[in-house]
Parts: sequence; C-alpha cells; structure tokens
Amino acid sequence: MPGWCPADRSPVRLGAGYGTTAHPGGRTGDATARFSAILILVSEIHAVARRQLTNAGHNYTRGRQDLVDVLAGIGAPATMPMIMQRSPGLAQSSLYRNLAVMEQAGVVARVDVGDTKSYYELSDLVTEDPHHHLVCSDCSAVVDINLPPRAERSIERALGDAARDVGFELTEHRLDIIGVCAQCCAA
Ligand SMILES: [Zn+2]
Ligand SMILES: [Zn+2]
Repeated sequence: MPGWCPADRSPVRLGAGYGTTAHPGGRTGDATARFSAILILVSEIHAVARRQLTNAGHNYTRGRQDLVDVLAGIGAPATMPMIMQRSPGLAQSSLYRNLAVMEQAGVVARVDVGDTKSYYELSDLVTEDPHHHLVCSDCSAVVDINLPPRAERSIERALGDAARDVGFELTEHRLDIIGVCAQCCAA
C-alpha cells in the first residue's frame, strides 16, 4: 500500500538549498547545496574532524580524511552504496570500520531507518549545522531540514527543561520527522 499522503497530495515543499533528497537508488542530490549555503570551509571540517579523532585517541588517517571528503561532497545523508560509489578501491569493511570510529569520535552521525537501513553524514559538530531529518515511512528516503534558529533554540530549551525534570543534563538532541516523501506522494 502506498504511504499516507497529505489530503491534497501536494509535493513536500522544502526551502531553497534543501533539495538534497537521499533517495534510495535514485539521485544523490546536489552535492554542495546545503554546505555552500552555510559557507563552511572544507578545511575547517577537516580541522574539527582531526581534533575530535585526536581527542578520542584515534589517528586522522588518509582513509578517514577521504571519507570526510566523500561525505562533505555528497552533502546529504548517504547510504553505504552511495559512499562506496564515491570511494572506488576502498573495501566495504574498512569503510564500516572508519565510519564506526568516526561516529564514536563525534565526526560522523548515523541515521537509522527501520531495522536494517542506515544513513551516514558529517555530524552537526563538524558542519556547525544543527538540523533534523524527514524520514519517508514508505521508501526510507531521508532528507535534511533546518529550522529557523529561533525555533531550534526554543526546542533545545524545551527539551533541556524536560530532561532536567527527570534528572538528565541535555548534551544534544536528535529529532526526526516521519512522513511520506514527494516522490512517494506523487507515485
Ligand atoms: Zn518515499
Ligand atoms: Zn542530516
């Protein structure tokens, strides 16, 4: 059964620069759309990645630098096949190992969809781009979205208050929105 769509079945409208749908088997999105919009320099991304890995007791190896370049180039949540496509000659096992190390060091963020599918991206810490994800419940596409800074701050405050009420100190939050993507709505 096709997924539920809004009554008018109008396509999801995203703001300028957010056309980075990581659609399975489909287009991989505009590689530079979001990062060029937030003007983060690749050299800064590498500097933060190196610092995070060093602090976590790991080396910033050539393979890890290449992987950061691949993720920055994709500029959207990427599946392992998408990463492998852009990393010719690198074994899947070493990609998984490097992604795991970098996730643990806070360089890479993983977005799990369902039980079996994962997307990888550079963490907000590295890109300095706090954002959320729209997850399609039909095809498992994941799309990055940014909220206005004021909305982001007020969510952070509300979550911090709720966490403190039960004795938690908030360090970060992850908030994904589940829905049906434009392609599935149109299908
Ligand atoms: Zn979909
Ligand atoms: Zn993301």
